Amino acid sequence: MQKPPKTIPLSEILPDEPMLLMGAGPVPIPYAVARANGVVINHLGETMNQVVRRVKEMSQYIFQTKSDHILGVAGPASAAMEMAIGNLVWPGRKVLTLKNGTFSDRFGLMAQRVGAEVTEISPTQEIGPISADQVREAFKKEKFDVVTMVQGETSCGVENVELPQIVKIAKENGALVIVDAVCTLTTMPLKMDQWGIDAVMVGGQKGLSSIPGVSLIAFSEEAWQVIKNRKEPRPHWCLDALLADEFWSGGGYHYTAPVPGVLAVFEALRLICQETLEKRFIRHKKSSVALQNAIEKMGIELFVPKEHRLNSVVSIDLPQGVDSVRLRDFMADHFHVEISGAFGLNIVRIGQMGEQCRSQNLFKTVHALGLAFRNEGVNVDLSAGMAALEEELAPEEGEFVR
Ligand SMILES: *Cc1c(COP(=O)(O)O)cnc(C)c1O
Repeated sequence: MQKPPKTIPLSEILPDEPMLLMGAGPVPIPYAVARANGVVINHLGETMNQVVRRVKEMSQYIFQTKSDHILGVAGPASAAMEMAIGNLVWPGRKVLTLKNGTFSDRFGLMAQRVGAEVTEISPTQEIGPISADQVREAFKKEKFDVVTMVQGETSCGVENVELPQIVKIAKENGALVIVDAVCTLTTMPLKMDQWGIDAVMVGGQKGLSSIPGVSLIAFSEEAWQVIKNRKEPRPHWCLDALLADEFWSGGGYHYTAPVPGVLAVFEALRLICQETLEKRFIRHKKSSVALQNAIEKMGIELFVPKEHRLNSVVSIDLPQGVDSVRLRDFMADHFHVEISGAFGLNIVRIGQMGEQCRSQNLFKTVHALGLAFRNEGVNVDLSAGMAALEEELAPEEGEFVR
């Protein structure tokens, strides 16, 4: 018999004081969400059915849709992306992928794996959004069945600001549109029905301030008809939308739902409905703009120009000689604040999603960031940064970022 390994309690691995998660996700979760995540109930039966019904109803609000084709996914946001691709794309389908970073690229990789012919459009400058003009040009040359894009590209901090126009062009040309709103949903407007989007997905661990590993996806009626009528073999079992719907619409067994995660999402959605989207958007914008101004007032440059800068994830240019890992370790070791590096870019990223947009978190983060830059030998004006934060967060018309 093989011997068990030497064990240690988890408390010896975790820090005594939890890290403040100010990176590109996961983000801090409210107490109500954490508490719900500690509960297991039967995954089938009237209690769970009621939970699921209400999760769907609250999801209709956050997606701004009347569609009932809303499913939870036991998996990361990438699994929800894969559900959209696996159900709407099959061998020979022509997919136009709007690629401006790691996550928008992922759609193209997934589509290739199910046999699609993928055409990519990249931004006209190295880092930036995809324009409606570029999409219009692409449709002049070719016909596409599906267009994929992100609302916000987390990897570099760019917002596809022409999203509504792009969706319109794609729809006029008969394509279905899949939008990844993983880092943006509930942090800024997204109107699924009004803009005509066919599939939108979100993970738990970003704007919703829930746990990672349970995601939500909404399909339009048009997309649902495509899924129902497809003749081609369906490659996935867990991610088959029709099978998943047996649970999400009828309480039947597909696989055992991640019950605590669904309960956590329930609470996260409830808090969002209570706050209202209008107020939540204001809080996010105000918080992110305050952070951006504070960083600039310190004398540090932001990576993305204001016109298409993503508010949900703020990218910071690292001055010459600053080491990303050392900078972030300094913040973590001395202040218990974690921010993100980046894949292949000389930037660090600060998240502004859900609970990250609270004043106490902003003050703590900017303070830690300023001292970390100083430690790197950069002469920052930390007081000016802190003053900017105070000024920007001053309440107007009773709108507090508490
Ligand atoms: C985080 C993120 C993803 C991936 O989420 P996972 O839960 O890691 O799969 C996809 N798209 C965007 C825009 C994201 O920010």
